[in-house]
Amino acid sequence: MIYLSDFPKIIQIEPTNSCNFSCSMCLLSLWKNKKRNSISLSLFEKIAKETFPHISRLVLYGMGEPLTHKKFLDLLRIARKYLQAEGKIAFTTNGSLFNENMINEVLENNLVDEIVFSCDTFEGQESLGHSMAVTTVRRNLDYLLKHKKRCSIKVGIEIVVMKKNYKSLEKSIQMFCNKKVDFITISHIYPYKEHVQDEMMYTMLTNEALTIFEESGEKWDELILGVTREKFAESMQLQYRELYKYKDKLVKKERPYSERYNELLSKAKKKNVLLNTSLYLKEKEKLELLRELETIFKKIVQISKKSGVKVILPDIIPSFKNRECPYQSNNAVIIRSDGEVVPCFKYLYDHPSYLDYHSRESSFYSFGNVKNNSFSEIWNGTDFTSFRSKLRNMNKNVPYCGNCSFSTNNCFYVTEGQSDCWGNEPFCSECPYSLNLTKCLL
Ligand code: SF4
Ligand code: SF4
Ligand code: SF4
Repeated sequence: MIYLSDFPKIIQIEPTNSCNFSCSMCLLSLWKNKKRNSISLSLFEKIAKETFPHISRLVLYGMGEPLTHKKFLDLLRIARKYLQAEGKIAFTTNGSLFNENMINEVLENNLVDEIVFSCDTFEGQESLGHSMAVTTVRRNLDYLLKHKKRCSIKVGIEIVVMKKNYKSLEKSIQMFCNKKVDFITISHIYPYKEHVQDEMMYTMLTNEALTIFEESGEKWDELILGVTREKFAESMQLQYRELYKYKDKLVKKERPYSERYNELLSKAKKKNVLLNTSLYLKEKEKLELLRELETIFKKIVQISKKSGVKVILPDIIPSFKNRECPYQSNNAVIIRSDGEVVPCFKYLYDHPSYLDYHSRESSFYSFGNVKNNSFSEIWNGTDFTSFRSKLRNMNKNVPYCGNCSFSTNNCFYVTEGQSDCWGNEPFCSECPYSLNLTKCLL
């Protein structure tokens, strides 16, 4: 069923793409001379007038630190003015600029309903993330948590888990639970840089495919070598059949490796998955580390139960069955600080990525700009509605590269295509957000 609503439920707006930090995991660290942009109050008010009365939640962050917007408090005031009484305002911050004065102003004037601090540097562990001004951030967080109006808002913590910090995750979660935050959400790292691949505590191989790899009891490197040898022999035989008249006397050779491989492929096909053997062979060693993180996550669930603080965990080995676009399923959209309407965080800006052991240059993708058209025209335009409609059933309409051996062998579409191999544009078929690995706060 195609269902068209006039407005999304959630609008995420990027206040600015500038930041006072320089985290090495961030795309901003690759923007050496790029001009930064902040949304103007007039553009924000234009969007607010048209859309805020119809939405239930406004989320303020994008690629950058929201509080570096010089008129951030004015943005909050405008938002409160146009949202319905029950409409919620949330923002994410690195916490360094959210000082006592600002906290007083925001809480005493009821300007926000939810604030999330990004914190992923813990004692004794390095991080590629928010490692600056840690003491100031903790001081601001403590002030906020003890504020007399603290009960009127929800305070959350966002942590990016990576190889550098996973060992102290449990201790840190306990510390934030003791501080009585309302929730903690953990995301994996998105690899904008090649060396970040080593920090990824997840795999793009799905659980369905991995189960077949592991339960088969095969030595997969030998199996693949065997299949390659048999394929080579087969092609040679075909050539000889063409060349020699006595072709009928050629005896068909048995091909045990290929037979076994095909058997496993059909088993996978029955589960609607492919087998990315190249990725499996590359990630086999890493699985032990991922199981260790699974054990840590189990302990975190216990801490969460005991303390009553909600902890939202990502997957580590994702499920193909559950693949879905978080923006589509939450009926959400992003408006960039220059007015571009983009479908999700991944399409905010051109960026390199290093998933499935290949590089890719992904382009930003916009369905229109609110400076030129009304939001409603863009949201309900044919292109955007048909894009969302496809994403309602991703596994039927969008191929998945993590399970496809071509991805790890640099298929044209994953390395430089604007569309995927089924012709869908933009390219969603290798999206770690749709597998509940990397996460956006909506
Ligand atoms: S604080 Fe956030 S936006 Fe700023 S550099 Fe770090 S990751 Fe990027
Ligand atoms: S790239 Fe991922 S998050 Fe973005 S629209 Fe596609 S599926 Fe959704
Ligand atoms: S785009 Fe390439 S890697 Fe992805 S599913 Fe299609 S053929 Fe496989």
